[in-house]
Amino acid sequence: MSMEKSSHVILTSHKSEVYKDALPINWGAKDPKERGPVVASISNPLHRNAIGSHSGSYTVYRALSIASGQFPKMHIPDFKNTESTTIIKPQESWTDPDKFVSIDPWGADVNVHFKDYMEKGYDVRPSIAVTQARLQLPEIYEAIKAGRLKPDGKLINEKGDIKVTKVAFEPVWYLPGIAKRLGIDEGNLRKILFSETGGMFPELVTRPDLKVMLPPIGSTTAYIFGNPADLAKPEIELTCRVHDECNGSDVFGSDICTCRPYLMYGIEDAARTAQKGGVGLIAYYRKEGRALGEVTKFLVYNARKRQEGGDSAATYFHRTECVAGVEDARFQELMPDILQWFGIKKIHNIHSMSNMKFDAIVKSGIEIVNRISIPDELIPPDAQVEMEAKKAAGYFTKGEVKSGDALKNIKGREIDEEKR
Ligand SMILES: [Zn+2]
Repeated sequence: MSMEKSSHVILTSHKSEVYKDALPINWGAKDPKERGPVVASISNPLHRNAIGSHSGSYTVYRALSIASGQFPKMHIPDFKNTESTTIIKPQESWTDPDKFVSIDPWGADVNVHFKDYMEKGYDVRPSIAVTQARLQLPEIYEAIKAGRLKPDGKLINEKGDIKVTKVAFEPVWYLPGIAKRLGIDEGNLRKILFSETGGMFPELVTRPDLKVMLPPIGSTTAYIFGNPADLAKPEIELTCRVHDECNGSDVFGSDICTCRPYLMYGIEDAARTAQKGGVGLIAYYRKEGRALGEVTKFLVYNARKRQEGGDSAATYFHRTECVAGVEDARFQELMPDILQWFGIKKIHNIHSMSNMKFDAIVKSGIEIVNRISIPDELIPPDAQVEMEAKKAAGYFTKGEVKSGDALKNIKGREIDEEKR
């Protein structure tokens, strides 16, 4: 192993006079200038006022790319013409330090909010970006064929493609706020984040003055159907789904769960609401396999299918806990930040069965009117196990809740494997 002579590493893991040019962050301040930009770029280590760096989990790929010589180490981005396609106006919630703990409300259009600082040489990077797209989805073409949706030449064109505004959010954690939201001590949170990542960020324990962290985790994307400004108007009907990623179902159509059917039905209904003069929102969180990851998830599938008596709704949650140590690691407490960014105060229709999601949204001060579960005909047969198990565990449903033998008798497909 050799390190280039010129590439000395500056450790920022101890506070000293050296960091006097780093800008303070006054989380929750009324004005972006007073709040101060989050400087997590690495071009000038002495300007950094946050732990971690931009791009979430991709920060590690960027490092690989730089290490292999394919990516210039000191690239300074040119933000010309990158401005949001729709301006999301600052909301009252943006200056409430309790409403945002997992994203930076001033993270979009930094060249507008923090122009002065950037002109002074601070390398401020956006953590939120807003753009436009058209969605081409087979389920939506089916919904049009079945007469449940109609092209209107505006939101949905003749081909059946849907026009959306989409917003990407990188995680930006305000550590005192995260600790408060989870009801734990900040010092303890920092210590456990440090040790459970194998000591990835020493500043967590050596720089208590740094309160903001950009963790190397997945991002969130919001898809908006209709006018994004309407999300903040409680008198305009809002249909919303908050969806946690399930790559196997969402992208590949794997039939063991209801994730893609729920997502597609949410999109259909969001579009329908927008066509009636309302607005729709799908917030998509990268929290694969209940935030336990795909390897754990696939192990659980096998354990479920191989257990004595086969895959059954009665033992669905128990098997996850046996393998992972916990039924669910998603912590919906942080999820409503995305909704608060748009200034949402009232959700007329929420597509979700989860009480954890419902409780977190209501606790953040947003009113929910109707809870909508997926029509039975859209549930794949092998996913009945998950569906009935969730209902039995108290997930929201307007239908029947099975227990005892009826629950045991909800069986999934058997595993098809070579005998070892
Ligand atoms: Zn799934």
